[in-house]
This record gives sequence, C-alpha cells and structure tokens, in this order.
Amino acid sequence: MNEIKLALHIHTNYSDGNASHADLVKTAEKAGLNAIITTDHNIWVSGLDGYYSNGAKQVMLLVGEEIHNRLLNPPGSHMLAIGAGKELAPFAADPQRLIDQIRRNEGLSFIAHPIEDPLERFNERAYSWQDWEIKNFTGIELWNQMSEFKSVSPTLAAAIVNALFPKRMTLGPLERTLSLWDGLIANRRRPIVAVGGVDAHELVKKFGPFKVKLYPYLHHFKSITTHLLLPKPLSGVFPEDRKQVLEALRSGHCFVAYDLPAKTDGFRFTVHNDDGMFIMGDQIKIKGGLSFQIRLPHKATCRLIKDGWQIKEWTNREVCTHLTTEPGIYRAEAFIPYKGKLRGWIFSNPIYAWD
Ligand SMILES: [Zn+2]
Ligand SMILES: [Zn+2]
Repeated sequence: MNEIKLALHIHTNYSDGNASHADLVKTAEKAGLNAIITTDHNIWVSGLDGYYSNGAKQVMLLVGEEIHNRLLNPPGSHMLAIGAGKELAPFAADPQRLIDQIRRNEGLSFIAHPIEDPLERFNERAYSWQDWEIKNFTGIELWNQMSEFKSVSPTLAAAIVNALFPKRMTLGPLERTLSLWDGLIANRRRPIVAVGGVDAHELVKKFGPFKVKLYPYLHHFKSITTHLLLPKPLSGVFPEDRKQVLEALRSGHCFVAYDLPAKTDGFRFTVHNDDGMFIMGDQIKIKGGLSFQIRLPHKATCRLIKDGWQIKEWTNREVCTHLTTEPGIYRAEAFIPYKGKLRGWIFSNPIYAWD
C-alpha cells in the first residue's frame, strides 16, 4: 500500500479564503502534503488542476467546489463536489439533483460539516446539513476543525483562547457526527466514506493597528488531514495519479488523521478472511472468520467500534487484534495525549462485513 496525505475543503481568494491556489500549493509543500483539494463556495475554478513543484516535491492540486443554496433559510446543506470537472452550483437548490449530477460527471459528493452549532456570540449561524432524504452521496466530512471551534466557543473568552491556541482546542470529531455516521451506514446498509476537512479560510482580523491571521493555512495543513492508501505509488503523471486519488476517496481507502500530536503515517486497519487481506473501506464476507489487525505508528489508546458501539479498548499499544465470526461494520479510533489532554488522533473508515 502506498500512503499519501492530503488536505481537502480549502477556500481560496476566489471565495472567502485568503490565498491564491499557487500560494496554497507552496504551503502544502511546506506542510509535507502530497495533495490538496480546494473547494470555493459556489464557484468551480477551471484550468488549475495538476501537479505543482517548487523543488524536490510535487504537490497535486485538485479543484473542487463547495456548493450550497444561497436562498436556503435557515442556511446550511453545504456539499463538497470533488472530481466532477465542471461547474455544478446551478443545481444547488435541489440537493438530490446536485448529487446525481456530481455522480453523472464521475465526481464525489461529501456532506460538509453535517452537524454544526451556531456561534451565537458572533452572530455566526450553524450550517448543518438539512435534507436527510438524499441518497447516493459518497460520504461525509467527519471532522471539521472550524465546526469544532463553533461548538466549543460559547463565550467571547473561549472564542479568543480557541482562536489563538487551536492546538489546545482540537479534541476530535463531534460525538454527534460520529453517531450520525454510524447511524447512516446502519440505516442505509451501504458504505459512507468519512474524510477529514480543514475548511481553511485563514481569517484576517484587525485589532487596532495589528493584523492577526487566525487559523493560518499552514496550521490547518499540519493538523487534520485525510491519508489515502493507493494500490500503486504516485507516478508523477497527473491524469493517472488523479484517478488513483479519486478512487481511494470513493472507496474509503482512507483515514482521518490529526497529525500534530504524533505522525500518523503507517496507521493500518486490516482484516483477513479465507479470501485474503482487506483494508478499510472494503466490503467483505465472513468466510472462515475474521482476523482484524490495527497497527498504530505510535503507542496510543485504541478502540474498536462495531455497529456504532465500542467493543474493545486497548491502552498504550501499537498493535491490536480481534478475532470474530460476527458480521458487522467495524472501524478503529485512536487517541493520544497532547497538550495535557487525550485527543482524537486517528479515525479509520470501516471494514464492512455484511451478513
Ligand atoms: Zn461550508
Ligand atoms: Zn467551507
């Protein structure tokens, strides 16, 4: 397996972000990312997809779009469209048509910040997803650092501290979003892919004569990323590498990582049955029983979740195993101490052992 690291859900100065695509690629290279996916609000910027290089390392830029209906009241229902290769904002008013159009164009649809709280102190509203009748979307954004900020900043003092010290704030995906995800998979009996989104804007605030950059892009790119497992190493040829990246996202061959506390590269969640070895995102049969293995790149607390319930927890472990003959939706979570607290570190996509 060839692991690459990407940041997705990024705003540029085509919408409400504070950098050009070219600047973002440079920042991504600094952060050690292989790829970034920009998603400006209701605008798809054409002609920029490709590999960029400033030196030894190439960074892949994919341009997607974050689409929402501007007239929706209360606001919300933001959809990330990735890999569709065309402007799809005209379909914003009808989420199902939008999803169908994204699919028709071989793109991926991820529900952005599915659950949000308002930031009342700043008149900032919640932008949760609203229409749960929709079908055939690819997945959800499991962890969005800016949504987390809104949920844990009820007072002005908390907001200031969280804005200035994001490393002390970040704890994990919202519990409600994790439950929503488990519930969606159980109810629909189909894979729903989880990705980590940065929702980076790099807000610039003026305090008198001073300008402060809140949540700079470099911070975002080093914190919540999505690691993809590719069957082949990146070749450096854009069209084939783009295809591999989109395919890994489509099939959930990926995990959501918080890279700041410790390197997450090398995390694996695998299972063996009589047919061979499978990875996160795969759908398998019980055939002879299942032997799960979780490999962590560092000693940490690890949980195995089955059908939304924690069935095992290991502490201070690098390898965890579980043998079973029970069908279920299995996924792994890892937590690690950082800045005085145990924090969400790695969230795998599930292995789907259907009955
Ligand atoms: Zn949004
Ligand atoms: Zn956004």
